[in-house]
Amino acid sequence: MMTPSQPYKKSVKRAKELREILSKYSYAYHVLDTPSVSDAVYDSLFSELITIETKYPELVTSDSPTGRVGNELLGGFKKVTHSSRMLSLNDVFDRADVEAWVVRMDKLLPGARHEFFADIKMDGLACALIYENGILVQAVTRGDSYVGEDVTANVRTISNVPLRLRDAEGYKKFLIGRTEIRGEIVMLKNDFVALNEKRRAAGEPEFANPRNLAAGTIRQLDPKLVAARPLSFRAYDLLRQAATDVPTNMYAYEALSALGISRNKEASIFGNLDGVMAFIDEWSEKRHDLPFDTDGLVVKVNDRAQFAELGVVGKQPRAAVAFKYAAEQATTVVKDIVISIGRTGAATPVAVFDPVVVAGTTVQHASLHNADEIARLDIRVGDTVVIFKAGDIIPQVESVVKELRPKHTKPFQFEEALKHQYPELSFIRPEGEVVYRVKGATGVLLLAKAVQHFASKGALDIDTLGEKNVVALVNAGLVKDLADIYTITKTQLLRLDRFADISAGKLIDAIADKRKPLLERFVYGLGIRHVGTQTAIDLINAFKSLENLRNATIDQLKAIDGIGEVVAESVAAWFADPDNETLLTKFGELNVKPVFEKKTGKFTGQNFVVTGTLESLPRDEVAEKIRELGGTFQSAVAKDTTYLITGGKVGESKLKKASQYGTTILNEKEFIDLLEK
Ligand code: NAD
Repeated sequence: MMTPSQPYKKSVKRAKELREILSKYSYAYHVLDTPSVSDAVYDSLFSELITIETKYPELVTSDSPTGRVGNELLGGFKKVTHSSRMLSLNDVFDRADVEAWVVRMDKLLPGARHEFFADIKMDGLACALIYENGILVQAVTRGDSYVGEDVTANVRTISNVPLRLRDAEGYKKFLIGRTEIRGEIVMLKNDFVALNEKRRAAGEPEFANPRNLAAGTIRQLDPKLVAARPLSFRAYDLLRQAATDVPTNMYAYEALSALGISRNKEASIFGNLDGVMAFIDEWSEKRHDLPFDTDGLVVKVNDRAQFAELGVVGKQPRAAVAFKYAAEQATTVVKDIVISIGRTGAATPVAVFDPVVVAGTTVQHASLHNADEIARLDIRVGDTVVIFKAGDIIPQVESVVKELRPKHTKPFQFEEALKHQYPELSFIRPEGEVVYRVKGATGVLLLAKAVQHFASKGALDIDTLGEKNVVALVNAGLVKDLADIYTITKTQLLRLDRFADISAGKLIDAIADKRKPLLERFVYGLGIRHVGTQTAIDLINAFKSLENLRNATIDQLKAIDGIGEVVAESVAAWFADPDNETLLTKFGELNVKPVFEKKTGKFTGQNFVVTGTLESLPRDEVAEKIRELGGTFQSAVAKDTTYLITGGKVGESKLKKASQYGTTILNEKEFIDLLEK
């Protein structure tokens, strides 16, 4: 028998934990009407569970929240079985999801032309109103989808629920026999605010949100209390025993209006997906101005016969989906906490996590600011965290989902981590400050070193910007970060002892000359820990622009030949440091635009490894020459190595690898010949 793999075991455990926590949250939400987390957090954990269950269907349990609608019922109300299940909807998040939904339907109903029906999705409590011969006889909550609670007395107090349907020409059939109207009970935003204001004035506790207040109110046992809270009903469905009475969803809405029932006027029909997508775009912002809270849109097949034919999978109809707009919160797991040292010597901790989409963009790291913030959040490696991103603002860790914390985690020890990550440096935390800094007021020293590195031969190669000039500029306060070198003026230089007219002019020209540096030199010059010249080149060849590199995920970084976990995390941490974000923006504003230039030449497509020492050429010059001619300089013999250049004696293992991969071995002379050919 095969033993289960590590990832599988992890998934089994995670699925179990997610089921438990989601059931707990769901109970608090549906039964107690006091959610413990936001819907976005619930949805994010829910979709993680779906991902695991889709990958390993054998992990689906009968009690999984993914297969259940609502929750068990509270006592106090009569239970009523629904005429047909009150289902929930599958979530879709973007055009690709919507297209995939249509493809799935096309497979089941080949050749059928879909007309789509779209409406705003109200965030309230689902309820079915039953009318017999036009008279309201019963109102039932959705409950667990099969059985709901009889809340007739309470619903009768809602002023826009007619106790008798309107007698309208053309819709008389709905006044005969049983007509079921399904919709949401909501509290309008204005009513909610006014109610809370009253409570505040009376010194009573305020309610958290309209949705849960509406749900909690409708399940009060005393109708007088319900009557005192302003609720509204908005329908989204009309059911008759004879399905043909309601041929389309749009017809249902027209009939609802005729019968005197409120429904959304925004609902529309579309002949194709482009129309649906335009509707989605249109409501992305406008929905905030609606009088009630929304949690997306509902898109359905308009034709009800097609709708019925497409059927139901699990708890969702195939012919409808809920479109959810990008949430500003999501959950993910912290893989590591790394510390980035800024130009001023400040140590900024950064959480590195599994990539996650928040507010429409993928994020994989977030600054944790300082040791106090880590302690406040008590964030640990392995924790599931809530990431928050409002609008375009930088992602932040909002909180830790403590219930999902793995056993045996330890609080993050900032000082230990500093020692571990930067054994060569010592740090202090000045009295009254939250930030650790490199010791000895070395901010200036660090900065000078960084600028020197930026100007060095392998980087921007500004030879007039040597150690002494850099120190003078930094000491004079003219350079506070790397980008500042581009702001220096001749007048400023002439005020310093070191510069005269000619030398000042020379330096200014030399710097101006480097406003379009080669991208790999620029990236190397940034001084990202573990990024030497070769790594910078590898990064640039893979990502081709600073923007792409900035957005690269850890997994994308690791996928590059020669780049491992440590380098990948270091690169990600550098780009996550807000100081560095600011620095890169500043370069842009100063019109410093690094360029990507793929070198081509006779070595294009060929890969070289050098072992031992060559007598006529230092190693970095060999590398430089190879790159100049379009070749790639590798650190170790790999499958794709074309030449192994040997200086002196070569180790057995290298030779073995070379012969295994068909790599040609060249001695120094043969290599020089090849260069000069
Ligand atoms: P769903 O997202 O599956 O959607 C189906 C429901 O949408 C229908 O039953 C109907 O009541 C409603 N709806 C509103 N407007 C509609 C329209 N125009 N047309 C058709 N239907 C419309 O709803 P659900 O099953 O209630 O799903 C779960 C929701 O509850 C999620 O949004 C989730 O975030 C939330 N939830 C939150 C927590 C928490 O702790 N915060 C816990 C559990 C569930």
